[in-house]
Amino acid sequence: MVLPPKVITIEANFLDAREHDFYNAIYTQSVAQFGSYVESGTLLNNYAHILDLLTRLRQAINHPYLVLHSKREIAARADAPVTTGGAVCGLCFEDADDAVLSACGHTFCRGCMQDYIASIAANAATLCPTCRQPLSVELSAPKAGAGEADDGYRATTSAGVTSMGHARRGILSRLDLARFQSSTKIEALMEEVHLMRERDPSAKAIVFSQFVSFLDLLEHRLVRSGVRVVKLNGGMSAGAREVCISAFKEDPDVRVILISLKAGGVALNLTVATHIYLMDPWWNPAAEYQAIDRAHRLGQHKPIRAVRFVVRNTVEERILRLQDKKRLVFEGTVGGDAASLSQLSEEDLRFLFQN
Ligand SMILES: [Zn+2]
Ligand SMILES: [Zn+2]
Repeated sequence: MVLPPKVITIEANFLDAREHDFYNAIYTQSVAQFGSYVESGTLLNNYAHILDLLTRLRQAINHPYLVLHSKREIAARADAPVTTGGAVCGLCFEDADDAVLSACGHTFCRGCMQDYIASIAANAATLCPTCRQPLSVELSAPKAGAGEADDGYRATTSAGVTSMGHARRGILSRLDLARFQSSTKIEALMEEVHLMRERDPSAKAIVFSQFVSFLDLLEHRLVRSGVRVVKLNGGMSAGAREVCISAFKEDPDVRVILISLKAGGVALNLTVATHIYLMDPWWNPAAEYQAIDRAHRLGQHKPIRAVRFVVRNTVEERILRLQDKKRLVFEGTVGGDAASLSQLSEEDLRFLFQN
């Protein structure tokens, strides 16, 4: 059984001047902070902080809102702890999605914690990102209560957003939507979706991002231009997931499914899609292949087009190069070590932050 061809392309864009200034300010801060860890010889003890620097940079590239209107930023401005909604994840500082609790009593998104643990270099200490005690967390445990608030499936129509159950209080609730500004990345996707629909009016697309808040912004922008979408988060109940996935598969008017890469673990079969958009590069090449294989698998009869969006002159270009490096090492190693694909070694971190 031969699968139809898949074409994977990289679409590279430049930030506009406003976005670039914003990104550069954060980049300069991050490099200085990284340098201070190197100088004091505490790089490997500051994993959570360094991943956090990386997250902020990647969010700034996707859209400045993701930094400016994050729960952390709002809490910092108010000089008070975040109190709205459920528990806040100590890694992404948003409402914890599919929350897990560490033994020391701190809350994280299951996906954030999985990524964190997978990234820690073999020789680094595994510490709680919040309190820096040795980390103990049960990732296979059933959902903590805090995750239940995420169960609401939001059926989105071109006419607006209908809430079923309790909707997550996402980033959109913190924005003045009448003055919504788009971003280079968002418009790059809009252009691709537009071209897709011109070529094949019945085509469907999967859009992946690491960031649930970015999916919220993409959803808003797509719906505003009349594209019907559904969205899959990590914290959804099995029932809500099923409703979302079958809407994408069976409703010809639903064109796009937005999926958090952190919700990806399950064996989704989405061969109804012929277009795959990866909104933010990840250093683990295996994660991107797995995402593409949601559509490129048995049952797919049409060619697949996958687009990886990347912004030039930013840390994203380095992430792509790191990905290539990891792939080469992996393929050159007998019985390649899969764990090394997701880990960030000290050398990898230096490659990302130093010139
Ligand atoms: Zn999180
Ligand atoms: Zn802790």
